[in-house]
Amino acid sequence: MPFQLTDDQLLTRDSVREFAEAEIAPIAAEIDKNHRPPLESIPKLAEMGLLGMIIPEEYGGTGMDTVSYVIAIEELSRVCATHGVLAEAHSSLCTWPIVNYGNAEQKQKYLPDLANGNAIGAFGLTEPNAGSDAGSTSTTAVRDGDEFVLNGQKIFITNGGFAKTFVIIARSTDAPGAKGLSAFIVERDTAGFQVLEPEQKMGIRGSSTTPLAFSDCRIPAANLLGNQGEGFKIAMQILDGGRTGIAAQALGIAQGAFEAACKYAKERVQFGKPLAALQAIQWMIADMAVDIEAGRALVYQAADTEDRHEPHSQASAMAKLFCGEMATRVTGKAIQIHGGVGYTEAYPVERMYRDAKITEIYEGTSEIQRLVISRNYLR
Ligand SMILES: Cc1cc2nc3c(=O)[nH]c(=O)nc-3n(C[C@H](O)[C@H](O)[C@H](O)COP(=O)(O)OP(=O)(O)OC[C@H]3O[C@@H](n4cnc5c(N)ncnc54)[C@H](O)[C@@H]3O)c2cc1C
Repeated sequence: MPFQLTDDQLLTRDSVREFAEAEIAPIAAEIDKNHRPPLESIPKLAEMGLLGMIIPEEYGGTGMDTVSYVIAIEELSRVCATHGVLAEAHSSLCTWPIVNYGNAEQKQKYLPDLANGNAIGAFGLTEPNAGSDAGSTSTTAVRDGDEFVLNGQKIFITNGGFAKTFVIIARSTDAPGAKGLSAFIVERDTAGFQVLEPEQKMGIRGSSTTPLAFSDCRIPAANLLGNQGEGFKIAMQILDGGRTGIAAQALGIAQGAFEAACKYAKERVQFGKPLAALQAIQWMIADMAVDIEAGRALVYQAADTEDRHEPHSQASAMAKLFCGEMATRVTGKAIQIHGGVGYTEAYPVERMYRDAKITEIYEGTSEIQRLVISRNYLR
């Protein structure tokens, strides 16, 4: 059955597309070239409601459904993957756990500022020795009276350079492996908490990716998110939703590259006719279109499954796996269709190809998605 978008979801697509083309497309190449986080976009994203997408209206968000949310991430990423991941990490990785595991005080304290752009959110799970194996987290959070004392290091934290609100996973009990982990809200200006120098990356270069260091960093015990020992469960649920968001980012990147390739194929003349008249090019365009539509079906299906409050880890892993690899295929073909100029900064497909690769890696690599998917069939 084809997926039928509602009028509201179609409106979200139109309005985010219009916004992205007017406000984001003009700076996409420059922020990539200069590795510059687009801080000037934050008030604009907030004004459009794109920072409070999954925050309930009572806390100043737009409380949109998950299908509308992934459409918005897709549309931002269609013109700029950096903006796509800024909004995605803020929403799926930081606001989602506060909305779903925060108590009344935590929601009241943090969600309004996350919705209106006064605070950008980030999520710290990965460590030097705990990547795919998140259960090996070694950052500690030791209870001391009314406080927890954090020590350790996180790496590769999206939005790290400018986020104010961090959801951090740390080991707070003696229970082994994943069972000893808990989730905490950490504010940027807390003593003992340091954001280190950003990574220089292959793609999504405007996205700030930083290490974090905790050295006797004291946070109020009231900043525990959920219960002690629930950290791994919370992190996995965050990633279940986040993976659909990253799949949407990959889908948007692929869509942007596809449109650029179609345009170029119609304009460029070789052997007396446009590239579009050559069957070799037509076949590539057809394969790209099928890839994108298959990915879109998986992304919307995963989002719709979440909206129906059904288990969605399988659907989100499938969407992320397919779309991550699909975006790499499609952006690669888009460069091929452009020929030599596609390999240069003169055309956006070069940036899109570099941006696409990360969607096979973060929020769980393609190999980890294959583990998640296959275990449902082999138990
Ligand atoms: C730009 C960027 C932004 C990021 N943003 C965040 C963020 O905001 N917050 C955060 O917490 N983290 C973030 N990450 C971290 C990211 O999620 C991890 O890099 C990713 O999960 C992989 O972990 P790793 O790099 O340690 O690779 P490793 O776990 O060392 O994996 C290396 C290779 O081994 C494979 N492998 C590992 N285990 C298995 C297995 N069991 N079976 C088969 N293959 C396996 C992997 O698939 C991969 O190919 C970000 C990373 C990057 C690069």
